[in-house]
Amino acid sequence: MAYNLSLAGQVAIVTGSTSGIGLAMADALAEQGAKVVINGLGDPAAIEEARAALEARHGVAVAYHPADMTKPDEIAAMVAFAKDQFGRLDILVNNAGIQHVSPIEDFPIDKWDQIIAINLTSVFHAIRAAVPIMKAQGRGRIINIASAHALVASPFKGAYVAAKHGVLGLTKTVALEGATFGITCNAICPGYVKTPLVEAQIADQAKARGISEEQVMRDVILAAQPTKKFVQFSELAGMLLYLASDLGASVNGAGLSIDGGWTAQ
Ligand code: NAD
Repeated sequence: MAYNLSLAGQVAIVTGSTSGIGLAMADALAEQGAKVVINGLGDPAAIEEARAALEARHGVAVAYHPADMTKPDEIAAMVAFAKDQFGRLDILVNNAGIQHVSPIEDFPIDKWDQIIAINLTSVFHAIRAAVPIMKAQGRGRIINIASAHALVASPFKGAYVAAKHGVLGLTKTVALEGATFGITCNAICPGYVKTPLVEAQIADQAKARGISEEQVMRDVILAAQPTKKFVQFSELAGMLLYLASDLGASVNGAGLSIDGGWTAQ
């Protein structure tokens, strides 16, 4: 039996892939031969450098689309761009996300709106635009980077936890709608991964809780993760590639924890 993870000839979009997990997932998809549309914010020169590096490293076409995940029209344009540029769309990875840490009574209303827009509503818009293309192809893979916070809560993260629980609900719904069209939709639910998003949280949590950054690392972040280790990009990539391949065809509507045992507690 062949266990083939090759994605040669396939086309993927990864939202929020100018940094952190998204950039690592784009790298993994390109390594398997997929053409990739990357997306995200940042310095244009740094983004172009990252795009060109992916292309050079893996010998596949990589394009950048600047869609802002708070703007529905731009999200739809990004999906259309992938199809126009590369002729198809096989894999959609909804990864873009932000965080804000604050007690609920002080939670800035504009931060709530922004987190719901980027972490939840953008996932709806991207899927809405991608599904007709995938249905016409008779195959598609939608992989949402949710979080352990799609399954459990932590204090001071009201908007993020609400958005990620929402992503898991949307994942299940799209899984049911796509099932007979060869489309699967799943959520990967990582524990803590050391990215710029988490590094910023260490400082924010220290402020919200009135403790030092060292205490946050030990008593807040790694306290939640029984392995006492950050989740690695390679571990997330392994799950992503499995889901994207034919081996993952019957995994549908799942929230797959990669959290060192956090949500087993
Ligand atoms: P990161 O800050 O390193 O990267 C976030 C990416 O999203 C960047 O490319 C950024 O430009 C992009 N982005 C932000 N706002 C955007 C917008 N309006 N439009 C387009 N792109 C936008 O963060 P990360 O840690 O790599 O997080 C990636 C995803 O993984 C997020 O959805 C996050 O919730 C999730 N996640 C992260 C962790 C963790 O511990 N780092 C754990 C679980 C889930």
